[in-house]
Amino acid sequence: MKFNQFVIIGLGRFGSSIGRELMQLGYEVLGVDRDEEKVEEMSGVLTHAVVADATEENVLRSVGARNFDCGVVAIGDDIQASILATILLKELGVKKVVAKAVSELHGRVLERIGVDRIIYPERDMGIRVAHQLVSPNLLDYIELSKQYTIAELNVPDCLSGKSLSEVNPRGRFGCSIVAINKPKGIIIAPTASDVLAERDVMVVIGTNQQIESFQHSIG
Ligand code: ATP
Ligand code: ATP
Ligand code: CA
Repeated sequence: MKFNQFVIIGLGRFGSSIGRELMQLGYEVLGVDRDEEKVEEMSGVLTHAVVADATEENVLRSVGARNFDCGVVAIGDDIQASILATILLKELGVKKVVAKAVSELHGRVLERIGVDRIIYPERDMGIRVAHQLVSPNLLDYIELSKQYTIAELNVPDCLSGKSLSEVNPRGRFGCSIVAINKPKGIIIAPTASDVLAERDVMVVIGTNQQIESFQHSIG
């Protein structure tokens, strides 16, 4: 399902960042915050920004929250407010509700009340940064499952000028390169004769173990 209209509850750092980006991407965004200053700050950025307490049902009704396809509850510190706002959005019939959790317990409660997606920004960014710190060539990664990952790796000096058959990632480690992103363009499904260069980015798929071994060999 494609969403066009978003309502964001809480315009702190997290909520306002989502809002700015959605606007950049060309979507309509209503921002709600009980703090007048936050609303003023975002009023020039978002389609609409209103001062309101999102824990009051009549307030959410009056701003027309039910007309939105997707709601983001970006309240952290006030867990009670986060939970109430989430329940209200669900009850009003917002199709997809995404909420930020500040702790495991907060997340469990949100799960119970049927949030479609729970985000732990600090925890998840911390995990990501830790991975990047121990693997200097790692730019980003997606966990496909507990076992499998797709990773974006910088091509280091030691691989520059080598073909995939020389580097032999599949033969040595079992992982495959699904794309090589070069300054001039991207090679999808590269083959044995494709050559790596410094400043290229390899997109590698494999088990966590395979990718780790490959990274160690080039790190
Ligand atoms: P961030 O880390 O994103 O800056 P935070 O995790 O510190 O935010 P809070 O500061 O608790 O979270 O909340 C984010 C925003 O949500 C604040 O601007 C706050 O005014 C707003 N907010 C909190 N409770 C409500 C509420 N009941 N109705 C509307 N807005 C609310
Ligand atoms: P494989 O069955 O492993 O692809 P192959 O005998 O078919 O081996 P080639 O496809 O010619 O041989 O590739 C030779 C070697 O080059 C492979 O063993 C592999 O290590 C490496 N290679 C080629 N393409 C890739 C790729 N996209 N990702 C990772 N390694 C590759
Ligand atoms: Ca915070």
